[in-house]
Amino acid sequence: EAKRAGRNVTRFYDPATHAAIQERIALEADLRQALAGGQLLLHFQPQVDAQGRPTGAEALLRWRHPARGLVPPGQFIALAEETDLILPIGQWVLEEACSQLRRWSEAPATRELQLAVNVSARQFRQADFVEQVRQTLRESGASPQRLKLELTESLVLVNLEDTLAKMQAIRALGVRFAIDDFGTGQSSLAYLTRLTLDQLKIDQAFVASMLTSHTDAVIVQTVIGMAHSLGLDVIAEGVETAAQVDFLQSSGCHAYQGYLFGKPMPIGQFERHLGCTV
Ligand code: C2E
Ligand code: MG
Ligand code: MG
Ligand code: MG
Repeated sequence: EAKRAGRNVTRFYDPATHAAIQERIALEADLRQALAGGQLLLHFQPQVDAQGRPTGAEALLRWRHPARGLVPPGQFIALAEETDLILPIGQWVLEEACSQLRRWSEAPATRELQLAVNVSARQFRQADFVEQVRQTLRESGASPQRLKLELTESLVLVNLEDTLAKMQAIRALGVRFAIDDFGTGQSSLAYLTRLTLDQLKIDQAFVASMLTSHTDAVIVQTVIGMAHSLGLDVIAEGVETAAQVDFLQSSGCHAYQGYLFGKPMPIGQFERHLGCTV
């Protein structure tokens, strides 16, 4: 007994675990300052058509930490979700994206661009999320048709009735919807037909392996076929090579996002990038 208790105590004071907890507490304290401190920013990654012309961008969150440098979302979004900090952060992302769309609407070269914004589950489940989107659009003066919200399959499925109601209300404003990382979740044709949806985004894991894995090639082609039968747009993410474009193109997918066409970049660089590609 005593021996077992002793082992438990040892495990409890495990220095590695202790360090991880300290690290988390420090990061959380810093994240609370990030928004007020103006440390958050958006990067923009081009989304292109069959000719490689940008049709828009995905807005991707970055955190310019005073000591750690530029922190990617993979290192703080989960923490932000667990602490509810994702609520003010998600709202900031939406406001920032909408004011960007408003600025783009003023120049002929950028007026047609779409901007995709990632929405977290915690953010979408707020009772007044529809009202937040409506108000942000109104206050920014952005055209709702230019805004696209990216939801994940798992988010959509958790409370399907709530999802359907919110998507319908937001789509009535003119906003579009995409399902992000498509193919990784419990996708079924039955629920897809019930959603007011515009686009499927093929997950980058399938794009990365479709030329070497027959199974993943079949999954990619099935997703493309599914999108076509449902009358939805389809875009492949994580496109890095011309060979991947060839395969996607011959499979019927004509919209791409990935390092081949541009990495996520600060706004100034994105706008210069438009200048050379268009
Ligand atoms: P995501 O929405 O699936 O975004 C695509 C991710 O793939 C981005 O990573 C992007 O930089 C990366 N990517 C794009 N093209 C390529 C490529 O050709 N090769 C490779 N290896 N990677 C590529 P990032 O920016 O680190 O974002 C990671 C995830 O963090 C996003 O995945 C999204 O789930 C989340 N995220 C980003 N911004 C936000 C935000 O504003 N709100 C919320 N809730 N989540 C966000
Ligand atoms: Mg996304
Ligand atoms: Mg994605
Ligand atoms: Mg992803």
